[in-house]
Amino acid sequence: MIKRSLKQISEMISAKNDLSPFADVMIKGVSIDSRKIEQGHLFIPFKGERSDGHIFVEESIRKGAAAALWQSDVPNPPTHLPILIVDNCQVALQELARKYRKELPVKVVGITGSNGKTTTKDMTAGLLAIQYKVQKTEGNYNNHIGLPLTVLGLHEDTEIAVLEMGMSGKGEIEFLTKLARPDAVVITNIGESHLLDLGSREGIAEAKMEILKGLQDGGLAVLHGDEPLLMERIHRDQGNIKIQTFGRNDTNDLYPIEIHQLDKGNQFTINASNSSFELPVLGTHNILNALASMLIAKYFSIPFEKMNEGLARIKLTNMRMELVEGKHGEKIINDAYNASPTSMMAAIELVSNLQGYEQKILVLGDMLELGPQEEQYHLQIGAGLNADQIDLVFTYGQLGGHIAKGARAALGEQRVYAFTDKAELIQELEQHLCEQTLVLVKASRGMKLEEIVISLQKS
Ligand code: ATP
Ligand code: MG
Repeated sequence: MIKRSLKQISEMISAKNDLSPFADVMIKGVSIDSRKIEQGHLFIPFKGERSDGHIFVEESIRKGAAAALWQSDVPNPPTHLPILIVDNCQVALQELARKYRKELPVKVVGITGSNGKTTTKDMTAGLLAIQYKVQKTEGNYNNHIGLPLTVLGLHEDTEIAVLEMGMSGKGEIEFLTKLARPDAVVITNIGESHLLDLGSREGIAEAKMEILKGLQDGGLAVLHGDEPLLMERIHRDQGNIKIQTFGRNDTNDLYPIEIHQLDKGNQFTINASNSSFELPVLGTHNILNALASMLIAKYFSIPFEKMNEGLARIKLTNMRMELVEGKHGEKIINDAYNASPTSMMAAIELVSNLQGYEQKILVLGDMLELGPQEEQYHLQIGAGLNADQIDLVFTYGQLGGHIAKGARAALGEQRVYAFTDKAELIQELEQHLCEQTLVLVKASRGMKLEEIVISLQKS
């Protein structure tokens, strides 16, 4: 994490006040949450619409913070304390991270895309750790505040940082990539999430391509080559960067040759090596995330032959394709972390392909933030189901009801149940579960479908 004297920090963010008595105070790390203050931290208070972090400045210093920032439009700065006065605390946080990144010898990998950012970040960090000292974004700290905090948490001796870059609108990825100045970047795919803000898949592709704007000269961009919207954009303003593609098609630089789905993951071979790889993560879409990570690892001189070691260690963050056991012995795939049409279809495909079950049940809820065509997207998920592969469908939520409508056309009335109450859904679902059942639970984060998983689970 950042270690600098208060004087140095003051210069990095162009603070306005005289801090002579405190100039030599040493700062170790930053925090924006006074409850998580540790010894030596710089506390950065934010002024929100409802609450104002400045009221915690004194307390944070009492708890061990070495200093704090103070926004100039907030009255009565406590001048007896080690504070730095700035125009805007959020901008100062970002500026501090930008300067710190410039001073570090670290190589940076930036990862964006509609689905699979966190997964690809975890896989990439796992592979790079075979040979390097690696740090990565924790959890989902991928926005204009999370990313600067992640950068400020980097240690001086970290060799490669793998950073997730998220967005909800145009210009956000450009901001993050120009701050982080990556040496290599990945765009995992283009989906439908955030259609609400960006209007179209073209708009999303444009926004994701912004990641190239901060890429260092001579750096590598790894793109999903099966996505025409990305491929048609790579020739424009390309500058002096390298492009490599991954995907299912054999036109890509890296693609899978043979795929075997295992009980708890996938085994696959690739065009670029004779080795066979084992990925302890469900879903063939995760092979694509792995391929993107493998191109990054190769760029950092890790041979494909050594990568199995890194892939075997991969552990994903909770609720992403997690396989758990239910009370009746049924297997439940908990993918309640999030959902968009692309990821919903990927998860349904996975369930359809898994062998050895007598009954397959989908428990699907609303996919949020899809814009004016949201009902259509839900209807299509239901209508696209294959009656030979899926036995029963349970939906939860208003939009989920449209999945049910489509599913009734595909599977027949009697195989589809629609609910707007979780307890009622669980009660009905329990009656259909037995040992040879596979259940997929998936919806947008806001629907909290993990509550269903918890009540089905063996305690
Ligand atoms: P967020 O925008 O919430 O940060 P994310 O892009 O980080 O999401 P992950 O958390 O890695 O994505 O995965 C979220 C869900 O997306 C997974 O549970 C999985 O169902 C699905 N998913 C992951 N990778 C892909 C992919 N390559 N294609 C389609 N769906 C995917
Ligand atoms: Mg994420």
